Amino acid sequence: MNAKEYLQETRQLWDKKYEQEPEFLQVLHEFVDSVEPVFEEHPEYIEANLLQILAIPERIIEFRVPWMDDQGKARVNTAFRVQFNSAIGPYKGGLRFHPTVNKSILKFLGFEQIFKNSLTGLPIGGGKGGSDFDPKGKSDQEIMRFCQSFMTELQKYIGPDMDVPAGDIGVGAREVGYLYGQYKRLNGFQNGVITGKPLTYGGSLARTQATGYGAVYFLNNMLAAKGEAIEGKRIMISGAGNVAIYAAEKAQELGATVLTVSDSNGYIVDEEGIDIDLLKDVKENRRERIKVYAEERPSASYYEGVVWDHAIDVDVAMPCATQNEVKKPGAEQAVKNGVKYVSEGANMPLDKAATDTLLEAGVFVGPAKAANAGGVAVSALEMSQNSQRLSWTFDEVDQKLQDIMDNIYQQATSAAEKYTNDPYNLIAGANIAGFSKVAQAMLSQGLV
Ligand code: GLU
Repeated sequence: MNAKEYLQETRQLWDKKYEQEPEFLQVLHEFVDSVEPVFEEHPEYIEANLLQILAIPERIIEFRVPWMDDQGKARVNTAFRVQFNSAIGPYKGGLRFHPTVNKSILKFLGFEQIFKNSLTGLPIGGGKGGSDFDPKGKSDQEIMRFCQSFMTELQKYIGPDMDVPAGDIGVGAREVGYLYGQYKRLNGFQNGVITGKPLTYGGSLARTQATGYGAVYFLNNMLAAKGEAIEGKRIMISGAGNVAIYAAEKAQELGATVLTVSDSNGYIVDEEGIDIDLLKDVKENRRERIKVYAEERPSASYYEGVVWDHAIDVDVAMPCATQNEVKKPGAEQAVKNGVKYVSEGANMPLDKAATDTLLEAGVFVGPAKAANAGGVAVSALEMSQNSQRLSWTFDEVDQKLQDIMDNIYQQATSAAEKYTNDPYNLIAGANIAGFSKVAQAMLSQGLV
């Protein structure tokens, strides 16, 4: 069977098998469209049925999380840990607490994580987990009780050399603290079991900033490849969580102006550029909606709806909210707005039609698994520091992060050049470079 036939057979199999898992199917298609030339070069991967094996997680743990709310009512949520691939290291990836969480979403995130983690050059496999618990509007006590119940079950399946969770949407330093506290109560001190910890017991400096900063460092590489620089650029950012905040901070520190941020109700436009201290205060300290920012900042206006529908003159877009947030009309608006560069802070923020629209218009797209790998890269550096019982300075970690992002860009652009003759096809380049290492590792370990 040649590569074309094998990939075609595999696509058909997946279309039937994952009809009920649309996000997972979407990511499989995006991936398989890129890797055909690798299978042409390596018939032994076809022989080993590598693609079909790769698409099935090594294991998925599904469990219930019962917890008591502040009114004394018993509540319950569904939770999962997808241990997708351990060919190059222990499962590694975040936990998401959001009402939309289901198996399809965690499988798509876990699959992306395999190649993202491979691109970092660090020894980490791919995993993801979470629950359909909605942290919005919950008290601190409710969050703590939920995290304790969640970890009481999850702790059976994780460990510093086995599976190392971290944060994602809805899981930040507060939740990581409660989760780790419960782990420690049951297993003793082993802080390498989770990353994104507060600094006082093994958290890494620059981990909070890492995903957002990393996405800007990646953007810098994209700009440099076209002979441009970030200084003076006008940037549109979506989201107002950890990734958006620190992408905005770094972009402005480097001389760009960030004009927008958003949440699920609406967005703000600030012609003077985002006031980062106010944004952090509203989101991180007060845990308020983004509307409050506009109420306290004269140069900002609040709009209900989706930021991607807004007409505004910009050069760069950084989607940092969530999967499939940009659809075809949003991508068309971005092109009209003058967007020439997209660096993806969120995971799979563009649906297929949006990606095609941008590429057809000649927009240079930096895909999530490359552009947002800075977060998990610094998580892996946190694991190293925990093993060594050392903590590195902010500048040391930030410098390593910059080197890792530059290296990811290099890997993606050379794979793109080699396999597609187009050094700017970073979507294919990132998939191929991430996959090549995992494929070699899997093959050399035999049929497992
Ligand atoms: N949730 C982040 C991601 O999507 C970080 C995962 C981690 O630090 O393990 O990559």
